Amino acid sequence: MSKHLLDHFAVQLDALKQQGNLRQFTHNRQQGRYITINHQKMLNLASNDYLGLASDLQLREQFFDETPNDQRWMSASSSRLLTGNFPEYEQLEASLSQVFHGRSALLFNSGYHMNIGILPALADSKTLILADKLIHASMIDGIRLSTAKYVRYRHNDLAHLTQLLQKYHEDDAFERIIVVTESIFSMDGDETDLAELVQIKKQFSKVLLYVDEAHAIGVRGEQGLGCAEQYNVIDDIDLLVGTFGKAMASIGGYLICHPIIRDYLINAMRPLIFSTAQPPICVAWTEFIFKKVLVFKDQRQHLQQISQNLQQAVQSKGFDCPSTSHIVPVIIGESAQTVAKAQVLQNAGFYIMPVRPPTVPKDSSRLRISLTAQIHPSDLDQLVTLL
Ligand SMILES: *Cc1c(COP(=O)(O)O)cnc(C)c1O
Repeated sequence: MSKHLLDHFAVQLDALKQQGNLRQFTHNRQQGRYITINHQKMLNLASNDYLGLASDLQLREQFFDETPNDQRWMSASSSRLLTGNFPEYEQLEASLSQVFHGRSALLFNSGYHMNIGILPALADSKTLILADKLIHASMIDGIRLSTAKYVRYRHNDLAHLTQLLQKYHEDDAFERIIVVTESIFSMDGDETDLAELVQIKKQFSKVLLYVDEAHAIGVRGEQGLGCAEQYNVIDDIDLLVGTFGKAMASIGGYLICHPIIRDYLINAMRPLIFSTAQPPICVAWTEFIFKKVLVFKDQRQHLQQISQNLQQAVQSKGFDCPSTSHIVPVIIGESAQTVAKAQVLQNAGFYIMPVRPPTVPKDSSRLRISLTAQIHPSDLDQLVTLL
């Protein structure tokens, strides 16, 4: 590549650096609730391993003891529609279906695949998508890949959503309206009132609800099935999706839906059709963890307790704290200042990542603290003082 061609990219990297928005990989080693970066051992407050299962060595050992070598398939070698439909997928889908009230379940390689695949498959030019302003990038990308018209409503503002529904529902140009949201939001740690959302949906016959529970699966509800279980609306969310890469300590995405939607997606969803399915051993691990998570009530309760304590502490320090969950942002505003504050906390032994635009809106850079069930209440005392 000539210098002239490279310069174009180098200039843009420099600009990111100037703005304090340059992203880089770090060398990470993890052990229990700690992470070591450049020889510094810190309490890991940036993990999505919300129940502490990914770092649990006993679980890992038990899984491998129970899984004989001839079942340790490290590759599916094709899409499920060719030769890759191993029994592990059908077993996990059956388990999901059973706990989610007999509804159909469909697996995906990742949450990202799921969200960039489902919407383009379902939403055509006669579809309107109404999406919360702060949905995850994967859903935005899914919307962009679809041919639907797209309108955003103000974050978590169901009155605004209702206004838009009143405006568009009578429009003959649209045969379907898909309302897209998360239950717990990744950046503010706040949550949608799913019971209210379902009530609104019931007033509009063209509406389908699409709810992403990436941060709630494993963490909320009696059995850890997410906010939909907690608020008793599992049967009312048409497209209930979530991921296994966070609290479930594995990898992949799932959809709970009507069997006709499942059959349709198998025929229309490109990331499902044209990508090699997950290694069966990963799916077996997801199943193993999923069964455990159903009964890990103590971990869920502990996580909720330390989350409430931290939310209150952050508020008492004078920060706005929208969070009602284990994701607790400390919103600072300016990027460079946020990066500097994160550095101070890291030096003190707390691994907290700064989150900057474009991940969050301009001037809302923040420290994003994510708690896991492995953290002890006393671990956070010094952190609160330093804030
Ligand atoms: C993490 C996340 C995803 C992506 O899931 P992966 O399995 O990591 O690809 C999708 N949606 C939301 C809301 C997420 O937070």
